[in-house]
Amino acid sequence: MLHPIARKFFDNALSGGAASLLFPLTCRVCETPLESLSEIIACPQCWQDTIANRNNFDACEKCDSLLPKLQRGPQLRSCGKCDEYSFGFARACGSYAKAIRESVMQLKSAPYLSLELQQLLLTTFERLPNAQEISCLLPVPLHPNRQRSRTYNQAEIIAQQLGQRTKLPINDFSLIRAIDTEPHRAGMDEKARANSLNKAFQVRANRLITRQNILVVDDVMTTGATAHEISGTLLQAGAQTVSILTLARAVTIHQ
Ligand SMILES: [Zn+2]
Ligand SMILES: [Zn+2]
Repeated sequence: MLHPIARKFFDNALSGGAASLLFPLTCRVCETPLESLSEIIACPQCWQDTIANRNNFDACEKCDSLLPKLQRGPQLRSCGKCDEYSFGFARACGSYAKAIRESVMQLKSAPYLSLELQQLLLTTFERLPNAQEISCLLPVPLHPNRQRSRTYNQAEIIAQQLGQRTKLPINDFSLIRAIDTEPHRAGMDEKARANSLNKAFQVRANRLITRQNILVVDDVMTTGATAHEISGTLLQAGAQTVSILTLARAVTIHQ
């Protein structure tokens, strides 16, 4: 199930005696000892807590942001803040917290998703109202400068993993990042962030975009500005629909 890049990375790391760095002996969330190498990030209880956390909230039917629970059971409604976003739906495996946060951090240093996260990624994909219509997966591209300074793009690892499970093709070719933006620069408000992203992405090979129902894949969705910008660019190039799937959603609970 391991992507070839991940396999090479682990083989190199293990032969270098770095196994103890890759496989911490305790859960990264609660620090109880891990019983199996397959757990890697967090213990089963912490994964269960992370997943169950959603049931304490309602969620926006479009952007999946968490809302205070109004009814006894969780339900979908509108957050009222995402109407202008150009994408159709966004879904995240969970909030940027606990086991999910640790997984996102881990993915920055090793191109691997734990088995729990692979399964969660698939069930999150299945929560998309248009999951059956998706025609391809499109990982958010890095600017060439950044791609050079890293050995891999986290979004591509996520897309590869989901591609294996869903058998959907991956389009990592048609969208390029033309401007090297700094999405997480401190002190940037929402508007400055949106401006910095303006025309940051460009489409090449329109024919692979036209009439496609595209699922854009990334590690974290923060304000939604990047997702909105990419979606607008793809729709302008002829995409039929654009949806978003991320591992994590920044923790903002709309009141
Ligand atoms: Zn734990
Ligand atoms: Zn919303």
